[in-house]
Amino acid sequence: MGIILLFCFNPEQSVWMPKCPFKLLVGLSCPGCGVQRAVHAALHGHFLTALRYNYFLALTEPYAFFLILEKWVLPIGRFQHRLERFCEHRITVCIYLVAFCLWFVLRNVFGV
Ligand SMILES: [Zn+2]
Repeated sequence: MGIILLFCFNPEQSVWMPKCPFKLLVGLSCPGCGVQRAVHAALHGHFLTALRYNYFLALTEPYAFFLILEKWVLPIGRFQHRLERFCEHRITVCIYLVAFCLWFVLRNVFGV
């Protein structure tokens, strides 16, 4: 349902699309800011525009894909366990959290 709404309505031009509460309150962009616009652009085939709205989303999509695959798609088995060990490994989670924090700082310092 959300995907259909994002396809039909441009978040930049629609007044009823939800705005980021963090940005409204603090004035800084959170790591997720731009995701609605990026998904809207990607759904219309504008992948470079989507990338410019949120670089972090593109960087972490493979991780999200593997996590969804491991949790909800794959049957329990050897491959699922190997993927689970990778996705939930302490180092993998630490890398994700460091990238998340770096993205938060970089986008607010350099405006990316
Ligand atoms: Zn935000």
